[in-house]
Amino acid sequence: MEKLVALCKRRGIVFPSSEIYGGLGSTWDYGPLGVELKRNIKEAWWREMVQRRSDIVGLDAAILMHPRTWEASGHLQNFTDPLVDCKSCKHRFRPDQLDGKRCPECGGELTEPRRFNLMFKTFIGPVEDSSHTIYLRPETAQGIFVNFSNLLDTQRLKLPFGVAQIGKSFRNEITPGNFIFRTREFEQMEMEFFIPPDPAQEARWFDYWVDNRLNWYIKFGIRPENLRLRPHAAEELAHYSRGTTDIEYRFPFGWGELEGIAKRGSYDLDRHSEFSGKDLSYFDEETRTRYRPWVVEPAAGVDRVLLAFLLDAYSEDVVDGEPRVVLRLDPRLAPIKVAVLPLLRKSEQVEKALAVRNMLQPYFVTAYDQAGSIGRRYRRQDEIGTPFCVTIDHQTMEDDTVTLRDRDSTEQVRLPIAALVTELTERIGWHR
Ligand code: ATP
Repeated sequence: MEKLVALCKRRGIVFPSSEIYGGLGSTWDYGPLGVELKRNIKEAWWREMVQRRSDIVGLDAAILMHPRTWEASGHLQNFTDPLVDCKSCKHRFRPDQLDGKRCPECGGELTEPRRFNLMFKTFIGPVEDSSHTIYLRPETAQGIFVNFSNLLDTQRLKLPFGVAQIGKSFRNEITPGNFIFRTREFEQMEMEFFIPPDPAQEARWFDYWVDNRLNWYIKFGIRPENLRLRPHAAEELAHYSRGTTDIEYRFPFGWGELEGIAKRGSYDLDRHSEFSGKDLSYFDEETRTRYRPWVVEPAAGVDRVLLAFLLDAYSEDVVDGEPRVVLRLDPRLAPIKVAVLPLLRKSEQVEKALAVRNMLQPYFVTAYDQAGSIGRRYRRQDEIGTPFCVTIDHQTMEDDTVTLRDRDSTEQVRLPIAALVTELTERIGWHR
């Protein structure tokens, strides 16, 4: 993990936030390569969850929502963690994460546990009083529930159907940590799948989504042995859930949740109907009945998933007697898809390489590098997971062919420049 954190800093994947001021507890910034990786992960999710399906639509709701939302959703009352204070050094801890009964920092005496709400508060408008208090959303899901009627009225949706959303959420976690695993500001990818209120259908769709989401991680390169499913025990279920299974990854610090698949029933639509006085039911034309649908929700965290992809891709091997670090990221997720390298720094090769770079840029995130030996340049690309390198050499000048090097096998093939776009598109494989 330390090696990966160092690599992330060194190559501009993830930086500590506000570093020049000493950093802000557990917040992180994504650098030029990190932002590409993160966008690709979201793209991989969106394509699979929305673009390739006919039964799911997208939404992008605001982070700031009417405060009644959080009364209705139960977050104001229930979205709490137990917290104890150290009477001497004033540090705060979650009692379930402590080994003993004394403060792990200074050995001081601890207070009795009390409930601490995890929602960040702020004020809307210039008046800072309780009637202007609003919250930064702790989950994106509520934006979907409060838009339920808008979606029904505008989209001709027939059950079962889903609504997917990617966006920032905020939780004032008592004990953030483990790099980008647990932070106070993070991004979620959530999908609410609405079904008729029927336990048999709920069971079927729940199994379907657990299976579908587990396979997504495998499809995009995580080794199956580093994934497991963990059903929640009754006492750990979230206040809105009647059954949850987590998809966990074997992090260096232990198994940790990437995603939870929850049976939310009609809890959220019931509560919003009650609190808003609006009818949030669905008219089923087949059975000529009106009801509030039930929900099965797969909810994942982008940052945690990104960490898992990086950890799983990180490897060290030896090529031509030289050790190398290589990120074996799926080409679809890799921040840079192709690097264009002139073998020698001769002006004709440089000129040609720049022309090839310009040709590829409209299609792929493309890098260009002419500094140092060719071996060193390959290593630099391997270390950030660039799946393909195109090298321009003396033969290119004669017949307009280049070599295409594969990151994992280091094998090279020669092909015409004119075939590059098709070949790279096929190898990157978004269509798979
Ligand atoms: P945990 O038990 O780890 O606090 P949770 O069960 O509260 O997580 P959910 O409410 O199910 O999490 O949120 C869905 C997903 O959002 C999680 O699977 C996780 O990937 C992500 N997530 C939740 N909290 C955080 C956080 N503080 N930092 C980063 N990602 C988070």
